[in-house]
Amino acid sequence: MSTSSSPTSGNLKHASTQAKSDQIRRTGRRGWTPPPRLSLPQWADRYRRLAKVAGSMSGPWSTAAVEVARGPMFAVTEPGMHVITTMVSTQLLKTSFIENVFGYFAHLDPCRILLLQPKDDAAVQFSKERITPLVRATPVLRERVGTSRMHTADETLLFKSFRGGFLALAGAGSPDNLAHRPIRIVLADEIDKYPVTHEGDPITLAEERVATFANWLAVRTRSPTVQEESRIEASYHESDQWRVSVEYPHCGHRQFLDFFLHVEWDKRKNAAGNVVEYRPRTARAYCEACGAGWSEGERLNALQTARWHQTRPFECCCARHVPLDDYERAWRGTDDASDNEDALATVWDWWASDRHAVYRAKCPVCGAWGIDNIHAGFHTSKLYSPRQRDRPADVASKWLAAQGDEDRLQAWWNTQMGMPYRPHTGRGLHIEALAARGEVWAAPVEDGVAVLVVGADVQRTYGVELETGLGA
Ligand SMILES: [Zn+2]
Ligand SMILES: [Zn+2]
Repeated sequence: MSTSSSPTSGNLKHASTQAKSDQIRRTGRRGWTPPPRLSLPQWADRYRRLAKVAGSMSGPWSTAAVEVARGPMFAVTEPGMHVITTMVSTQLLKTSFIENVFGYFAHLDPCRILLLQPKDDAAVQFSKERITPLVRATPVLRERVGTSRMHTADETLLFKSFRGGFLALAGAGSPDNLAHRPIRIVLADEIDKYPVTHEGDPITLAEERVATFANWLAVRTRSPTVQEESRIEASYHESDQWRVSVEYPHCGHRQFLDFFLHVEWDKRKNAAGNVVEYRPRTARAYCEACGAGWSEGERLNALQTARWHQTRPFECCCARHVPLDDYERAWRGTDDASDNEDALATVWDWWASDRHAVYRAKCPVCGAWGIDNIHAGFHTSKLYSPRQRDRPADVASKWLAAQGDEDRLQAWWNTQMGMPYRPHTGRGLHIEALAARGEVWAAPVEDGVAVLVVGADVQRTYGVELETGLGA
């Protein structure tokens, strides 16, 4: 019965002494051990637990389950990063993103955190419905947050203390909430709904309070509303403008999924050739290189290949570079458009991260990083959602149902595309794309010609329709 591998009582005793001394050593170290070098996705995969709420998953967090969340999460732990803007369709990654940022810092890098909601009651609701279940479900947070015996009286729904810091939740409409206590991290949720107070813009007021910290961080989130009025859109435009690509399963071509360029559905036509019925339930995404359509299973697999790319235009080596246009030109110019890794590599390079999720823009001439990495802005649509009710067929059905109804169109652009709505037109110019397509036309004009007529067809680019028509 007894073998060399069975523990003897002597071994057990030794093990328990060892455990005790380990524990003492750990306790002694706790005061000075630097935070483990984990990125936010690594932290969430290792420590975060999902609360059991009706209708949702419970158990360990998995970043890969919503792969598109990896880029914004990675930015949080990126050295030198100060502002993160997420302009995304509803229920994709926004709320869990805020929860993860709070959890990471409360656990590994404790500090003073302010979480803003549009109003006080929304802050209370966020605390009850989001923070409390998060802390309860996640052991490393349950051990730390709200356990202070000394400050029991201070513990409320709007104030959660932990060793080395606190989380204060507040409504953005109350300037008093924004004027006191230095803080290091501002998490501003639903920023398009903030009122402007008599003391000024709530975001500016809140972010002024982080100025005393060298490693400050501000996170701004919202699905956008109407163009011009949208704070989140303005913030995204100030940022380095990350966009996400996925690899098409058929041929390996990597493209930036766009509802207007890549999603199509069946139409029934009458004898005269006019469309009499649209069949949005047949909608699917198509590959821009080989033309193949995706099954839903293929779309879900493709979402696992999500990568983020900086797309803000920039100047370097005396030239203007527009990453998305440069990429398109590069892969269309190759013999085999599906083999586009070379085209990708002329515009972006992998930037240190887990699973190569993040690609920074580089100058095609000198190879230097083209865009700084201080304000990261992320934009994505429902086409990147792994949820069953967010299939391209669902997005297309909502698009068709919204036609002719301004309110529903606005809701569609905001919730499905994560883009602001342009009232009355539904379309706008992508100025960079238009300028990049400019060509010089010149030809001799015969004597006696009195009228010149120029015709141009209709093009679409980057999700907004672009119409050009010239006549003279
Ligand atoms: Zn293809
Ligand atoms: Zn350069």
